[in-house]
Amino acid sequence: MAVGMAAYVIFPLLSAEAVGGPVPTDVTVLGDLKRRRLVVYDNLKDLEFEFQSGKIAREDYEALRTNYLGEAAGLMAATQEAELLKQDDAVVEREIAARRLQRKTPPQIEYECSACGYENPLPVKFCGECGARIAAPGKK
Ligand SMILES: [Zn+2]
Repeated sequence: MAVGMAAYVIFPLLSAEAVGGPVPTDVTVLGDLKRRRLVVYDNLKDLEFEFQSGKIAREDYEALRTNYLGEAAGLMAATQEAELLKQDDAVVEREIAARRLQRKTPPQIEYECSACGYENPLPVKFCGECGARIAAPGKK
């Protein structure tokens, strides 16, 4: 069970990033999460090595390993979340762009008083100039 979990957590780390090389210095959230996953992975490798060569006790090894795996799992969850947020951002940006296009037509004055012609700047029930009832927007 524990071994299966470990394989599950580490496998995505191994797949693309085990080649080594310089740690990327992205400043994006996703880049930063990736860099931190690489660091955790390096720590795990070091830990494995130190345990194999008898430098640390099994207890310490297992405690540290659990920590690192938990950290790696947390970072991966955060990465997935950040990727989802990125998609959300794209959707929101498209939405905003679409609304900007629609807004090019100047807004109609909805609260112009039909009695005196005063253009009330705010949604009001009664004209600020003469006190006449203002028709609700769209009911003209
Ligand atoms: Zn009026």
